[in-house]
Amino acid sequence: MNLQYLKQVDPEIYEAAIQEVQREEDKIILIASENYASKAVLEAQGSVFTNKYAEGYPHRRYYGGCEYADVVETLAIERAKRLFGAEHINVQPHSGTQANMAVFFSVLNYGDTILGMSLNHGGHLSHGAPVNFTGMLYKTVFYGVHKETGLIDMEEVRELTQRHKPKIIIVGASAYSRIIDFEGFSKIAKDNGALLLADIAHIAGLVATGMHPSPIPHADFVTSTTHKTLRGPRGGIIMCKEKYAKAIDKMVFPGIQGGPLVHVIAAKAVAFKEALTEEFYEYQKQVLINSKRLAKKLINHGFQIISGGTDNHLMLVDLRNINITGKDAEEALDKAGITANKNAVPYDDKPASITSGLRLGTPSVTSRGMKEKEMDEIAEIIANAIEAFDNAPKLKEISTRVKELGRRFPVYSAVL
Ligand SMILES: *Cc1c(COP(=O)(O)O)cnc(C)c1O
Repeated sequence: MNLQYLKQVDPEIYEAAIQEVQREEDKIILIASENYASKAVLEAQGSVFTNKYAEGYPHRRYYGGCEYADVVETLAIERAKRLFGAEHINVQPHSGTQANMAVFFSVLNYGDTILGMSLNHGGHLSHGAPVNFTGMLYKTVFYGVHKETGLIDMEEVRELTQRHKPKIIIVGASAYSRIIDFEGFSKIAKDNGALLLADIAHIAGLVATGMHPSPIPHADFVTSTTHKTLRGPRGGIIMCKEKYAKAIDKMVFPGIQGGPLVHVIAAKAVAFKEALTEEFYEYQKQVLINSKRLAKKLINHGFQIISGGTDNHLMLVDLRNINITGKDAEEALDKAGITANKNAVPYDDKPASITSGLRLGTPSVTSRGMKEKEMDEIAEIIANAIEAFDNAPKLKEISTRVKELGRRFPVYSAVL
């Protein structure tokens, strides 16, 4: 990666890009939805395919000169099929939300009822939140997690499905740390004549490597992002049964998008190829080991974790027993050099701008090579930083330690 032209043409953007590299190197990033794309992915995404219009699908385009765009998109589809075993895949959605939009628009009418996981209990905005198009266009019903166990309340899912007869049930979350019972959801959907959409945006890397059960055999539609645990470029994909293939493809283009981002599709293809390797399998294994280790150590430091632990790449820390808000905890960690996000906990009594929780994930730190020993260190740093949340000099001192830890695990240093 050489930014020499950018440096000449636009020093301000160059400077910001260099600072961002530095930030990604120096901070310990525990944002569960982020990762470090490989240099190969970055190169593909930065390639001349950004110049190309390729409306349509491989060998059925509305523009000439698409022969190499066809190569790229065909490879992306073939590799994603091998990775996930889906019947049909569309790799064009610009984002996870776009992927969900294409599914909803292809099977729902305005005013239909949808059942999704409540945002406050770990669901995603695009599963029916009032501020999202899904909340504006559809009648929404929400399930959540059980107050005592922190686990998805399958009884509630069944009961709500029977009572409200949703046309589609959405399963998948942004802040849920346990195995999701896709088969159980499928049974409830089938028993009640509902369609099932499994949104694996967060856990796609785990699903691809068999470390989380796959929804492919059970769901009518599976959507995902490609930039979270899957470690590709920012983007979305849709997988579905063959019988929905035409409807989905038509809804992505021309329904809700114009020209596909061919450079991003090229980068998706690279990421899928990487995800098929033994190295990626080992990576996902370590993501899980690190996540479980971090959760265990945080519990030893007196923190409460929703549901008592984790089966995936993330955990939700419940701060209600230690008298600090999610907002203050996030700020304290930031000053200490750790980047994480505040997050509502189930049954939170604080507003979304404050919250009582922190969401932590291990995809990024694992990508830079950190293992159990570093998780122990990070847990200790988090405990120290939160204890010193109003002590600026102490937080500054901790940030030096964080920087040293980061320096031992370089990511993109070669870019500079
Ligand atoms: C991140 C996420 C998305 C949306 O992804 P964007 O690319 O940001 O639109 C959708 N669903 C779930 C469950 C997510 O966690």
